[in-house]
Amino acid sequence: MADMGEAAGQGWSDSLAGTLQQLKREGLYRARRVVETPPGRQVVVDGRECLSFCSNDYLGLANDPAVVAAFRKGAQRYGAGSGASHLISGHSVAHHALEEELADFTGRERALLFSTGYMANLGVISALCGRADTVLEDRLNHASLLDAALLSRARLRRYVHGDPAGLERCLDGTGEGRVLVASDGVFSMDGDLAPLPELAAAAERHGAWLMVDDAHGLGVLGATGAGTVEHFNLDQQQVPVLMGTLGKAFGVFGAFVAGSELLIETLIQRARSYIYTTALPPAVAEAARASLGLIREQPWRRRHLHALVRRFRSGADQLDLPLLASETPVQPLLVGEPERAERLSRKLLERGILIGAIRPPTVPAGSSRLRITLSAAHTESDVDRLLTALEEVV
Ligand SMILES: *Cc1c(COP(=O)(O)O)cnc(C)c1O
Repeated sequence: MADMGEAAGQGWSDSLAGTLQQLKREGLYRARRVVETPPGRQVVVDGRECLSFCSNDYLGLANDPAVVAAFRKGAQRYGAGSGASHLISGHSVAHHALEEELADFTGRERALLFSTGYMANLGVISALCGRADTVLEDRLNHASLLDAALLSRARLRRYVHGDPAGLERCLDGTGEGRVLVASDGVFSMDGDLAPLPELAAAAERHGAWLMVDDAHGLGVLGATGAGTVEHFNLDQQQVPVLMGTLGKAFGVFGAFVAGSELLIETLIQRARSYIYTTALPPAVAEAARASLGLIREQPWRRRHLHALVRRFRSGADQLDLPLLASETPVQPLLVGEPERAERLSRKLLERGILIGAIRPPTVPAGSSRLRITLSAAHTESDVDRLLTALEEVV
């Protein structure tokens, strides 16, 4: 028996080791870098100081003194953890206030906090859709939206990226049951915007609901920073389900879903990733409230960020760099093969510039890229240094 156990264990080890070796051979092996500083324009990774162009802290709020002070005060008042799930005893006045402020900010009736964006997407789609229903998704949607549809057991169909006509064809082919259309607002690895007005119109014509995951638009787009739906001026009727995250432009952690009273009450009753998990620490909610205050009161952060995006794009244009068409702070440089993306990322690091190489399966095969992100924390000369380094290595 002992021998058989060992043999079975050996099978596992051989199989896992084989998989890791294959990832290495294909240039797809992932390793973590150890960061010693707060996120910001300048970071120390693996002991080396560098200028960072790869965080999602688009407004430079993750280490803002007011946000950090709110976090500290929140911990002093509420302790380190929430102690329970929202439905038992973990739902604090801090969470409640943040939900009300987020509903107001996004122009929705209500908002509901989740612990992460990944969990929000899993919870929403599996609460709204089941075996009899259909979920239609953009081909380049974030992994969490795809996983959510699979978890829901609904029929999943994916339409051509950013193509309302493709969506329309899928909508024509759906049978009985409810239909949910889900799309990133700003595509996380490409930086382009979904054609939301057209998607909303198509969904409305077919009695489907549109869900927008605005992880990368919230705080960044729209006159007041309320995101892609504000940019396109789409209300709760047109986009009934809006998901936003608090770990990117908000610089903190967590996520929320905003929509009608009916939607939010349904999620409270049915979303398993909401019900069966510990509530965020209330101090995190306090930090997010402080961030929201700055997002509303300091539009200069957005203005400066968009000016940096324009400066970077015009500089890259002069250098003929193969940038994707994006007007957002996500500015991917298309490289192609994963090994080359890794090599470029390493060479940039040697020059004190930190940019991650994004490879399959995060992006389609043959479209590995350097995902450059800009932040309001950067200066114009940071952007110029980036352009110089790119000119040297690409
Ligand atoms: C980051 C991201 C998520 C997940 O949010 P987390 O709070 O980090 O779990 C979901 N959707 C998109 C489009 C994202 O970029």
